[in-house]
Amino acid sequence: MATSKFDPSMEAFEKRFHKACSALRSAIKRYDAIVVFRHQHPDFDALGCQMGLVTFLKDNFPEKEIHFVGDHHPTFTPRIYPLPEELPLSWFKEHKFLSIVLDVGDHERIADPRYKMGGYIAKIDHHPCKAEIAKTATIVDLDAGSCAELVADFCFHFPGTKMSAEAAKYFYSGIVGDTGRFLFSSTSTHTFAVAEELLKSKFDISSIYQKMYEKSQTSLRSLAYALSHYEITPDGVAYYLISDAALKELGIQNDQGKEHVNIFSNIEGINAWCSITEDADPKDPCWRISIRSKAVDISGVANQFGGGGHPQASGARIDTLDDLPRFLDVLGSLFR
Ligand code: AMP
Repeated sequence: MATSKFDPSMEAFEKRFHKACSALRSAIKRYDAIVVFRHQHPDFDALGCQMGLVTFLKDNFPEKEIHFVGDHHPTFTPRIYPLPEELPLSWFKEHKFLSIVLDVGDHERIADPRYKMGGYIAKIDHHPCKAEIAKTATIVDLDAGSCAELVADFCFHFPGTKMSAEAAKYFYSGIVGDTGRFLFSSTSTHTFAVAEELLKSKFDISSIYQKMYEKSQTSLRSLAYALSHYEITPDGVAYYLISDAALKELGIQNDQGKEHVNIFSNIEGINAWCSITEDADPKDPCWRISIRSKAVDISGVANQFGGGGHPQASGARIDTLDDLPRFLDVLGSLFR
């Protein structure tokens, strides 16, 4: 009997998505130019799976033109991941290219709208899909702890290819980031199986952890701010607000407001916790909310407040602080 090369959980992934994976593999072979997209306001997973796939494609298809675009992160790029490319519109008009969209389930959140100009669009993700992005090559597993774990599995099953230490390192960072270092309940045997395969590529695991979790002194100040400004509602919802003025005073950008949201993760009596950060973008001012929960599914509340995400980690928004009491009431009602 033929023995499988990978853990049964990885073989189950390939079997479940065989049709879409085959369609994407054929498209990768067919196209000479490929652009990899992901969601805006990127986190470790968005950047990790994007750069993992870009590196994997460059390593294995050196004759092809591979690009990656999107907004950059205030501290992760270029410290951990390369700065996104600035590809002019003329490039998109002049090339017949394959768009691969990663880690995002709705059109508006894709960091560069020019994915639509691709001759073929494929998607790999673990978010609920709000509207169809790709017709045939859609690989979506809502139970996956990270998108990186799915993209890495797709790559491992690509015949005749190799996973370099560089590509593996990026994928690993995505897995670690979105599972909270293998802590969240979305961590599965598949997560560990893919992580094990990645580790066989022999990248330096301690240097990636060091880079991912290194804190600046500015970060210490924003931690002190969160610890001295949080509130807890009677329903056990902890939250802290960071206004635009406070962001400026702390010397941090909007995306960094959520950095310390998980300080409440192991506190007795706290059921859910949020960072609420002002985004003073004059075109679309709002307060961005990162919601996390110990056990109860909070993604429905995020959906109700202009966002979405996963059962224990979701993002939402309110237009003004007038909406805060209603948001806290709806979230708190989950715990009454
Ligand atoms: P955040 O609090 O921004 O770190 O987001 C937590 C999780 O929810 C991440 O997996 C995000 O990709 C996801 N998420 C955040 N905002 C949205 C949104 N508007 N729609 C769908 N998913 C979201």
